[in-house]
Amino acid sequence: MAPTPVNEQRLVDTFLTLCRFNTPPRHERPASEWAGEYLRKIGFTVEWDDAGEKLGGDIGNLIAFKKGTVPEAPPIFFSSHFDTVEATPGLEIAIEGDIIRATSDTILGADNKCGVAPILEAVTLLAESGEPHGDIQLLLTICEEIGLVGAREMDPRAIRGKYGFVLDTEPPLGTLLHAAPAQNSFHVRIEGAPAHAGIAPENGISAIVAAAKAVSAMRLGRIDEETTANVGIIHGGTARNIVPAEVELSCEARSHRLDKLDAQTAHMVDTFEREAAAIGAVAHVTVTEQYRGYALNENDTVIRLALAGARAAGLPPAMRPSGGGSDANVFNSFGVPTTVLACGMEKIHTHDEFCRISSLIGNARWVLEIIRVARDLRE
Ligand SMILES: [Zn+2]
Repeated sequence: MAPTPVNEQRLVDTFLTLCRFNTPPRHERPASEWAGEYLRKIGFTVEWDDAGEKLGGDIGNLIAFKKGTVPEAPPIFFSSHFDTVEATPGLEIAIEGDIIRATSDTILGADNKCGVAPILEAVTLLAESGEPHGDIQLLLTICEEIGLVGAREMDPRAIRGKYGFVLDTEPPLGTLLHAAPAQNSFHVRIEGAPAHAGIAPENGISAIVAAAKAVSAMRLGRIDEETTANVGIIHGGTARNIVPAEVELSCEARSHRLDKLDAQTAHMVDTFEREAAAIGAVAHVTVTEQYRGYALNENDTVIRLALAGARAAGLPPAMRPSGGGSDANVFNSFGVPTTVLACGMEKIHTHDEFCRISSLIGNARWVLEIIRVARDLRE
């Protein structure tokens, strides 16, 4: 079968419409309601969960479902997030050939609206063609950019897809993420003792010295191919002439292997505690699991579906591991094998962010072809 022609004008219009909604985290309502209305018109049931209420936002995750006509096909879901890393007030957009970018001093918001738009186009093409397909669910999330918390607040029982595809990493199209690290964050508060630095320094215990000793004794940066660690923020002290009684640090560790993450986490906690204690200070370390990792391979059905879909869409299929987290980390931790598909967002999280129209088209084809490959799969 010849590839279904994508309606380029409609797809670009959908993308521009989504970009024009100003949707920083917790303010996704206008884009999400618009997409919900769009999906209802093409036969999806649409609902929003209570994640928005829990997070102090103005709307929850959009969960849309369309019953398939091929009951033997495995149900699948596609996902992208509505929130943008920062607000886009006064956004102005220019289209120059294949490139869509912001001309105002803001991000464009292609991260992640260039994922949402092709999903909407693909399911529209599917509705128009009337071709058979399995059950399709869409999980269009909120608050991804502030720690995947929209997806984390989702009720795992609401997920009806057996395999998931999140459109949320940079080109080249055809590339998917098969693995991502787990991340722990650390909040550290070192408590020393204050004293006048000139009159009685011997009465003080410098929290800054304790922090300095700990950080310099710590393994940081690239620990090995699978593991990284960083001290990202340090602040403390109150005046030049006071021995600082308190310092706070914000740190992280990531690894593709949980045993290595545990080891690096223990090393960082121990080093803070030991070096602080050595000079009579106390380190209070709180470790928070930001997200869990996942590791899939080419034998996993979700990966096979994504690679076969890329081939059918005329995109060069490829796999790579990720260095960061996405909603796919959360869905995998719910027990639903989920991969991340490259989409059209480039130079993300900068005001030079842009998106290629050809990428939007490629993604719409890729999504449609995954639906077709899944339709023909018998497990
Ligand atoms: Zn994103």
